[in-house]
Amino acid sequence: MKWVHDDHIIGTVPATSSLASMSWLLSHCCKYLAGPGGDVAAGTEGVAVESAQGTVIIRQFQIGSSYRLRLEKLCFAQICSSNPSNSIRGWDRRGSGAWKAPREGSRHYGIDIICDAGSSVYSPFPAQVIRISKPYGNGKPHDTGIYIKGTGAWIGYRVKMFYVSKEIRDGASVSAGGRIGSMINMAAQFSPGMTNHIHVTLYKNGQEVNPTPYKC
Ligand SMILES: [Zn+2]
Repeated sequence: MKWVHDDHIIGTVPATSSLASMSWLLSHCCKYLAGPGGDVAAGTEGVAVESAQGTVIIRQFQIGSSYRLRLEKLCFAQICSSNPSNSIRGWDRRGSGAWKAPREGSRHYGIDIICDAGSSVYSPFPAQVIRISKPYGNGKPHDTGIYIKGTGAWIGYRVKMFYVSKEIRDGASVSAGGRIGSMINMAAQFSPGMTNHIHVTLYKNGQEVNPTPYKC
């Protein structure tokens, strides 16, 4: 976890305050968040909110006689052992690994994390393993992946990671950065010039969302 502003004081109210006072505090919080969809209603403590600064979770806590708010940013843990910064595949002879990059009359609904063949692959967040997930269903060597669902602060998120050999049992719990498999040599399956990578599709409450803001 990273803090957007550690112990950032948006405002203070007495610890004995009513819900109305907390509402005031949250409304001031929203001004700080300032961005599309950045409105936060009272009672949404602990709920993920999209903001101009990425997805944040608002935590309220008490110090002495006052309440404070802290903004907790949701960030992926390291996904591949050979890529500590989760770098995204740039343009190569087969396309780009960016969100919504062009793909043969369509778009790329995910991001590609560069990963050398044979690397360890880690969970981007605390999760429970659902099952293997195959991108094509054609039985070829690169037709392999893993499907996991978030736990803790990541409840409501699910991710599919393709070109990964699943090396953990279904139903297993894993912490952020925990090993879940190994990287296959997917680039060898395609024509020359492709960067070896993990394809990451992220779902939030069942909808595909752009994973890029979580690469923070
Ligand atoms: Zn991809």
